Parts: sequence; structure tokens; C-alpha cells
Amino acid sequence: MVHIALHFAVPLLVALAFYRERWKTAGLIMIATLLIDADHLLADPIYDPERCSIGFHPLHTVPAIAVYVALFALPLIRRRTGNEQGLPPTARAIHLVGLGLLMHMLLDWLDCLV
Ligand SMILES: [Zn+2]
Repeated sequence: MVHIALHFAVPLLVALAFYRERWKTAGLIMIATLLIDADHLLADPIYDPERCSIGFHPLHTVPAIAVYVALFALPLIRRRTGNEQGLPPTARAIHLVGLGLLMHMLLDWLDCLV
């Protein structure tokens, strides 16, 4: 239960801390990346509290995570300023989707440690 709550709380806190002007939109975009857990539907059983998602579910593997890093970083690299201020809306959304997915992977990975 704490794990699921963190999937909502952490994106909102990051949005408030780093995307304050558009925190609601940024938070919603990052929370929406929870949809990545649709890959659990491919597993049997769908939910296993003892299973580590990272490296098991297809959208939680290293190649997928590399794509998420690219989604996060490429809009910033193209912008060359290192922050998301002034990015076109589509690039900003892609950046936030990448960030949301990376936070999701981090939170899932933390769950693997306990
Ligand atoms: Zn997950």
C-alpha cells in the first residue's frame, strides 16, 4: 500500500519542487506513467508481492529503461540549457513522461531491496 501511495506522492512532490509553475499538469503526466504497469497483465500471477518488477516485466527491463532515459534527456539536450523552461509543449510532455517513468522504475527498484 505504501508502495502505491509513493507512485502518487513522489511525482507530485517532484512537480511541486521542480515544475512549480505547471505542477498540476506535470504531476498528472508523471502519475499517468503508472500505465506502464499494464505489462503486469502479461505475467502469471498478475500480482505477486514477492516478485521484483525490475528485469521481470517487459516495460521494466534495462532496454526499456534506456528508452526512458532518452525520453527524459533528449528534449533537454536539444534545448541545450539543461532545464525544461521554454521547451515546446510536446517536448516538455515527452521530458515529463521520461521523468515519470524513471521515478516509477526507481520506486519499483526500491521495493526489490526490502
Ligand atoms: Zn511498475
